Amino acid sequence: MGRALYPGTFDPIHNGHIDIAVRASLLFDRVVLAIYDAPPKKLLFDTAERLQLAQQALAHLPNLEIVTYKGLTVECAREQKADVVVRGLRNVADFEYEQQIGWANGGMAPELELCCLFCSSDYAYLSATILKEVASLGGECGAWAPGHVLDALGRKFDRPLRSTAQKPYLRREDKLVHHD
Ligand code: ADP
Repeated sequence: MGRALYPGTFDPIHNGHIDIAVRASLLFDRVVLAIYDAPPKKLLFDTAERLQLAQQALAHLPNLEIVTYKGLTVECAREQKADVVVRGLRNVADFEYEQQIGWANGGMAPELELCCLFCSSDYAYLSATILKEVASLGGECGAWAPGHVLDALGRKFDRPLRSTAQKPYLRREDKLVHHD
């Protein structure tokens, strides 16, 4: 079902982002996860670091590739020949933001469709901001991101973080349904 662009800051990628990437990879033929190079917010990880963390987290998705981009998301979508922009929804606040930005993008690129996917309720409270804050204060965040992301956060904040997830995140095989 076409080619989707999944844009975001991914500073760093966490299990909520991965949840949406897995869902998108099952819905679309190709998914391009696009890491916004210079968002108007303070970053913990530089672009190369965010790319490497996302690549390692999503290496198991055969139809997903990762790029970085500068400038408008709609320009990136055109360059990547995407028909659809995918975004994740956690709550009403996300909905209002995505509706606003979706209409703005739709005005610039009417050919582009917006597809918002609900994340699992397990991650409905999770944001990269909360992950970084809890990690920086030495709180329990072991179930929120893959082990290599926790390691990278631990290095930034000079404290080891332990993975505690039983099932680290949604896997493709959890969602695959076989029809005989
Ligand atoms: P942005 O700065 O563009 O919002 P983010 O990296 O914060 O970039 O988020 C990228 C996308 O992932 C957005 O669509 C966002 O709604 C979604 N997202 C963020 N956190 C979660 C989560 N816990 N569960 C599902 N989707 C999420």
